[in-house]
Amino acid sequence: MKEIPLAESFAYPVGKQETLTAAKDDKDEWYQALKFGEQDHLGEDWNKNSGGNTDCGEPVYAAANGEITFAADAGAGWGNVLIITHQLPDGTEVQTLYGHLQEMLKTRDEVQKGEQIGKVGSANGRYLCHLHFEIRDRSSRDWNRPGGGYSTDRTGWLAPSEFIGQRRKRDR
Ligand SMILES: [Zn+2]
Repeated sequence: MKEIPLAESFAYPVGKQETLTAAKDDKDEWYQALKFGEQDHLGEDWNKNSGGNTDCGEPVYAAANGEITFAADAGAGWGNVLIITHQLPDGTEVQTLYGHLQEMLKTRDEVQKGEQIGKVGSANGRYLCHLHFEIRDRSSRDWNRPGGGYSTDRTGWLAPSEFIGQRRKRDR
């Protein structure tokens, strides 16, 4: 089996990814318009505080080291979707999913944390631009595929901000 680089730490996929926080009233430019679990949401919707479509085309970064294992236009509700598979230092695998991308800059191979992989989009005009961001573990029924984005059964989906908060790099 091919070795993928270990995901030693995680960061947010947009903005100043190492220092971002989730609140709307903080000093950074981004906030979560729809949180994990709200309205059965399986991810977090990241928008710029400036609203509307001001975030169209903004860079989307790999949240951690890993390998792109899914890249496709996943249909009307999704638009372009990238999934990165990450191996944690304890051997566990998780996946991060990046939805509604305006453009995918990379569709295969290894990626490093912080590498730009795409641009924030609107799922081909279906929504105001935002990033739909999910983190899953191996128990997810939608491992390595987009799935539904919303469900009352969140088994296998992790709360992204909580997960990242526990795994940020602390030495800078
Ligand atoms: Zn969403």
